[in-house]
Amino acid sequence: MRNVDVIIVGASLAAAAAAKRLVDAGLETIVLERQKLPRHKICSGILSPRGHRFLLENFGPLPRETMHEPTACRGVTFHFPSMVSMPMDFFGGTTPHLHRKYSDHWAIQSSGAEVHDQTSFVGLQDNGDHVIVKARKNGEPVEYRARNVIGADGPSSPVIRAIYPDYPQTIPWFFVGQKFHEIIECPLDEEYFHFWFHPGLGHYTWSHARDGRQIVGVGFKSGDNFAKKHAVVQQYMEDKHGVKLKPASDDHEGCAENFGPSLINRYVFGKGNVLVTGQAAGFLNMIGEGMSCALHSGAISGEAIVEARLRNRPVQDMYRRMIASEVRRTSDQWNPLKIAFDKPHEADFPAALMALSWGDRAKVMKDIWNFIVLYKEFKWGREIFKAALQRPLVGGYPMKHWR
Ligand SMILES: Cc1cc2nc3c(=O)[nH]c(=O)nc-3n(C[C@H](O)[C@H](O)[C@H](O)COP(=O)(O)OP(=O)(O)OC[C@H]3O[C@@H](n4cnc5c(N)ncnc54)[C@H](O)[C@@H]3O)c2cc1C
Repeated sequence: MRNVDVIIVGASLAAAAAAKRLVDAGLETIVLERQKLPRHKICSGILSPRGHRFLLENFGPLPRETMHEPTACRGVTFHFPSMVSMPMDFFGGTTPHLHRKYSDHWAIQSSGAEVHDQTSFVGLQDNGDHVIVKARKNGEPVEYRARNVIGADGPSSPVIRAIYPDYPQTIPWFFVGQKFHEIIECPLDEEYFHFWFHPGLGHYTWSHARDGRQIVGVGFKSGDNFAKKHAVVQQYMEDKHGVKLKPASDDHEGCAENFGPSLINRYVFGKGNVLVTGQAAGFLNMIGEGMSCALHSGAISGEAIVEARLRNRPVQDMYRRMIASEVRRTSDQWNPLKIAFDKPHEADFPAALMALSWGDRAKVMKDIWNFIVLYKEFKWGREIFKAALQRPLVGGYPMKHWR
């Protein structure tokens, strides 16, 4: 049985950031990844400026193969039912359009950690002074012994299921799916990620260019028909925006997302010697941007282990203290007062709004309100509303939501 300092589950961006901190501090670190690397990851790949800075500062300039075509993104354009469109540029210029298969592989390799791919985490036993990690490599059982474990294993996190089996039933889930189309004609500016605040289309509707094709994506609830929802959006884009696309190719894809933890401020940081980070912990910024907070929270989880060892302190206390800044940053993105009066996002929403005429501003505010009301449909909708509206009034981020 391999005996190392830290096992990280998942070979994604949160894992790469955590591994970098641990390896730099001299801790022997193994990353387990269930897929063969480089692995596919469903993602639009629009990196925020903060995520871009993190990659540059920690791993250096991005190689060309880590980017899709178009290689850069200027910002996000919001479209509203009133047919107002509102482009918002990222602060500080364009950012790379990541090809997750190669960017994640480049980052994890650059971290210097040992990586075991095709190795699936199946369970763990925390014995106080060490953790036994059970995995399967090519179907065969394999065990590791580590002082600490980091779950950087994404939204459906098997590590969380191992330490809190009931957790998946306590949070909202939603599904996203996307189809790829050859383009006949597309007036949507390919330098922007396009998002529709349109209750008639669904709670999460997007489109953008990638490698000569157009992606059309929709969010849906359990039991909804993805194909029907997608067809409605495609027709709407043709009728209202003049987007003419060929029928979708066969390589459509989708996944479940752990929506809500950052909105209701209920993150999961782990238990005992096991830390949870990245999207597994609940870090997801508004309109589904999760790479920057995966990188930053991942780095903090690595730093917390290093600090806890140096100071001989319980690692959970250390992590919860150190992660507070990232919690505040992510939760602020959903805070209505912050959005109205501050700049919690990385594209300039207030400036884009002010660039509109008074009439269009009024239409946009009404459309956003109608869109928000859509979330009442969700089983957890009322809780989300209550948390979002109460938080600015009570003025903080109560620890009682943290696990
Ligand atoms: C359709 C879609 C579009 C998105 N677009 C954007 C975007 O444009 N910009 C943005 O910033 N974010 C976007 N996101 C969100 C972003 O992809 C995630 O927030 C981010 O990848 C989370 O990173 P992570 O490192 O926490 O985990 P993940 O990227 O989810 O990686 C988890 C890793 O753990 C591995 N794993 C899981 N289970 C096991 C196991 N049992 N054993 C071993 N390994 C395991 C997985 O294979 C995976 O490699 C999008 C998400 C979706 C679904």
